[in-house]
Amino acid sequence: MPRFQIATLPGDGIGPEVIAATLDVLHAVAARLADVQFAFQEFSVGAGEYLRSGDPLPPATVEAFKQCDAILLGAMGLPDVRWPNGVEMTPQIDIREQLDLYNGVRPIRLFHETHTPLKGYAAGQIDFVIVRENCEGLFSERRTPRPTDRDFETDTLRITRRGAERICRAAFDLARKRRRHVTLVDKANVLPSMAFFRSVFDAVATEYPDVETSRVYIDAMALYLVQKPERYDVIVTENMFGDILSDLAAGLVGGMGLAPSADIGDEYAVFQPSHGSAPDIAGRGIANPVATILSAALMLDWLDHPETRRGARLIEDTVARVLADPANRTADLGGTLGTRAVTERIVAAIEAAPPES
Ligand code: ATP
Repeated sequence: MPRFQIATLPGDGIGPEVIAATLDVLHAVAARLADVQFAFQEFSVGAGEYLRSGDPLPPATVEAFKQCDAILLGAMGLPDVRWPNGVEMTPQIDIREQLDLYNGVRPIRLFHETHTPLKGYAAGQIDFVIVRENCEGLFSERRTPRPTDRDFETDTLRITRRGAERICRAAFDLARKRRRHVTLVDKANVLPSMAFFRSVFDAVATEYPDVETSRVYIDAMALYLVQKPERYDVIVTENMFGDILSDLAAGLVGGMGLAPSADIGDEYAVFQPSHGSAPDIAGRGIANPVATILSAALMLDWLDHPETRRGARLIEDTVARVLADPANRTADLGGTLGTRAVTERIVAAIEAAPPES
């Protein structure tokens, strides 16, 4: 029987709360799968680890969790724990870069009409995926040491042919499993780096004649996503644009508590909610665990075994069914359920699912 070793990195703030909830769901799923087992191994990474050991991402820990089959991460960083230059610790971004997890997949799906601030959208009518380039773009030189005595600071938006090609291919491959439409979001009318990105996108598009394409400037996209989100299937974009659009898109379907993500490379992959450590609600038992639970479904898909894929569908269908009942809402969605209560309802629904699910 295949046995998958899963590294868990709970991290900071609400990270441990949403990971604990997700492990309950994964145990319930495992009990429903015939032919696979999961073993979980926890690692300490993040602002809390920095306070303990002086390093938020110890290299020996990275080497250890790289040996696992997949990595499930909660959230990292705390506003009061910063590097001497004032920026927050972001080991989750360091992990993406160190493991070359270039493909940031952020599915956006409306589960219930009351979750969206938009009028006239029913469950399922907003359903697209943002594919964010994770390893270059405007984040490319964020770790470059700089003199401290200058009257200016710059950040470089770097697009390489290799980086653009592989993220565009990832977007087209994903579109082939969905509604076969890819939208490139850029600023090719102003920035040469973005004109280059577009030229690479256009070249890759010729390899996928069965996939329709469109090209939209980032500023227009902020408007269109709010006006006509149903238009989009797969959206591919640069690192910083993807970062910003992901939050906007999450806002269309109920906020960060419902937005899962996967950071995928050719060798490794990390699955985590799109949200951060949410220190404003940490420790209160009110965090919405659904984004992390749905990230675990992305992980089961990526593990690419018939039984883990069945587990992924079981999680997604169960979450959709549980959230279809407006009584099953956490505080971020205007409801009264805490983290534990909503998790128990999801676990119970998994246990009660018909055997063929
Ligand atoms: P980062 O920069 O690390 O992504 P952030 O500063 O953008 O983090 P988050 O930690 O994602 O912010 O939190 C943004 C807001 O969303 C906060 O008000 C937080 O309480 C809320 N939030 C985030 N995640 C959840 C969740 N799982 N459940 C409920 N509310 C959440």
